Amino acid sequence: MYNRNVVFLDPAHGGTDNGARLSGKLQEKDVTLAFEQRLRSLLQAKGLTVVSARDGDASMTSDQRADIANHSRPIACLLIHATSSGSGAYLATSSLQADPEPHSVLQWETAQATYVSQSLSLLEGLTSALASASFKPVTLQSSVPPIDSLTCPAVLIEFGPKSGTPVNDEGYQQQLADAITGALVAWRTTFDPPKPVVDPSADPSAPKAAPRPKIKPPVAAPAPPTPPGAPLRSVPSIAPIKPGGAR
Ligand SMILES: [Zn+2]
Repeated sequence: MYNRNVVFLDPAHGGTDNGARLSGKLQEKDVTLAFEQRLRSLLQAKGLTVVSARDGDASMTSDQRADIANHSRPIACLLIHATSSGSGAYLATSSLQADPEPHSVLQWETAQATYVSQSLSLLEGLTSALASASFKPVTLQSSVPPIDSLTCPAVLIEFGPKSGTPVNDEGYQQQLADAITGALVAWRTTFDPPKPVVDPSADPSAPKAAPRPKIKPPVAAPAPPTPPGAPLRSVPSIAPIKPGGAR
């Protein structure tokens, strides 16, 4: 059910969605794409196949991103955001309650629930690698789209300035990409895929070759078209407010 050689990377935002303005003309969508390309080449150098949500400056919905991820059956999904506030990196898993019971059908909006414990194990690996590389990782739970619809171990990474070094600094990005690559490669060797999903209607004496769960597509999009000139909806920052106010 997993392709152990495939990793999915989602450089957040893109196209008409600029994400946050990080400084001057620096847009989050460009920083996430640049970092994704750097991380991609490091992972490919380790023999992994990387599936990306976008290669260029494309507008994409959360559902489109999840669809690409789920079809590639990756062993890990990383959602990449950047911020100009705080220091170091925030790592988030879905805030859905873990639901490890096998299901023959997963709901699109809550598909990640089945994978939450694997996501937490990936989070743990990434957190210790980033701590070793002095990125001061802060972990939290946040259902930023499209994480709840992903059928893979999934972690959102939002990186901010490190000791005053801005997020578009090449040395900074290389160090972060190195740490993530090391953590992913190490975690992958220990990763124990979940038990196959059992179809409850199947003959219990039949061979246990269970089908991959079907995923219900989202109900017809309720989002109205954005009128020209209207502010675009952006993904909320996941950074928690620290005691004392400063982030
Ligand atoms: Zn973002």
